[in-house]
Parts: sequence; C-alpha cells; structure tokens
Amino acid sequence: MAKYLNNDVPLELLEQRLHIIRENVRTAALSGGHDPQAVRIMAVTKYVGHEAVLRAAKAGVRLIGENREQSLAQKYEYIRGEDLEIHFIGHLQRNKAAKVVRMADCVQSLDSEALAAELNRQAEICKKELSVLVQVNIGNDPNKSGIRPEETRTFVEKLSILSNLRVRGLMTILPLGITQAQTEEYFSRMHALYVDIREKNRDNEKVTMDCLSMGMSGDYKLAVRYGATMVRLGTVLFE
Ligand SMILES: *Cc1c(COP(=O)(O)O)cnc(C)c1O
Repeated sequence: MAKYLNNDVPLELLEQRLHIIRENVRTAALSGGHDPQAVRIMAVTKYVGHEAVLRAAKAGVRLIGENREQSLAQKYEYIRGEDLEIHFIGHLQRNKAAKVVRMADCVQSLDSEALAAELNRQAEICKKELSVLVQVNIGNDPNKSGIRPEETRTFVEKLSILSNLRVRGLMTILPLGITQAQTEEYFSRMHALYVDIREKNRDNEKVTMDCLSMGMSGDYKLAVRYGATMVRLGTVLFE
C-alpha cells in the first residue's frame, strides 16, 4: 500500500513547494494568533530514497521523519553527515529501540511505559539524552496507538524519572475519514492538553514542552491555526 511518491522530484520543485508551505504556515499561524516562527516543517521521507532526502536538505529542509526502523536504516549512512535532525514517527517495537535510538534525535511515538524504559536504557548505553514526544490518541481510535488524552498528564509525570529522556511535547495522528469540524475539535483539544501539561511542568527540569507535532499534508494549515509547532509533511513535498 505504499503510495507512489517521486524520488526524482527536482531541487527547484522542492524549493518552490517549501516556499509555498512556509507561506501557508505563516498565514495559518497568524490566523490563529500564533507565532509563525515557532512552527517547524518536517519532511516525512518514508516513501522516498536517500537521493530525495539529500535534495530536500539542499532545498532547506532541516528536519526529517521516518516511521520504520528499516526505512531509516537504509538511508542513514547517506544522510548522517548532513545538517538534519532525524525524528522517528512510527509505532516502535521495543526490540527495534536500540537501533532507532542510535540513529534518531527524537522519538515522537512514545506510547507506553515499557517503551519509555527501553528507550531510556538504550539512550544511556549511547550516552545521549533522547528527546521524546508522547503520542496521544486524541480520537480514541482503536486502530491507532497512543496514550489516552485523560491519562497523558500522569504519563508525562512518570517519564520525569527517566534520566536519559527529555519530554519535549506531544504528537498526534488523527483518525482517518473525519469531518473538518472533528479535525478542528481534535487539534484544539490537543493544543489545550499541550498548554496544560506545559504549565503544570514549568518547574520540572526533565520536561521541556516546546513541541506540538500535529498536521499532515491534508490538514497542516488547520493544525497550525490551532497551535501546532511542527507539521509532518510527505505528500505535499514529494508527490
Ligand atoms: C506518513 C506520515 C506522515 C505524512 O503524511 P502525508 O499525508 O504524506 O503528509 C505524517 N505523520 C506520520 C506519523 C506518518 O506516518
């Protein structure tokens, strides 16, 4: 079911698309009363090869996302020298944690205490501090992983004892096939949850809430209007 995305998408087209995306982000942020400068654009590179990733880097991309360990590992040797921050955004099994921790700067799909413990252990072995986002299942979608919204605050507090992890915020993937009104409702609830957890952890030195990762190609403008500080874009960049 991998959709077709164009690995040969030219540099100029990537530059043009990034320019348009930045303009859209700016307009959307201002329309919601948010700071456009605070919004980061992630290129989701799961459907393209390392050639396209390197081209995207040349076009100005500084942040990429991969959802499978294998797909990241295939590219890693080619891209590791680049000025690119690498985030892992897919469901992560504990037996893949070691490899992912070695390659990634941030894991956005933290969805269980067991995974948190394993990520912490692996980060300790690598002598690094790993940034994590807590994945929230805001739509209570049985097909999606993530922490239930009402349990997220307690979950974040439990993570504070893991010395090699730093909680940077929240991530969500919305259910498929919902209306625009529902999309807005979920984004708005995610933002409220993010702000609440940020305020409650002002004095917690292991929790630095500076990232609300929500919005993909189809809904990133709405996400930014509702306060996303990171959008994850595959199709609009590489189709
Ligand atoms: C694939 C993927 C995206 C990007 O989706 P597009 O609709 O192609 O922009 C964003 N987030 C996650 C977690 C993904 O797996």
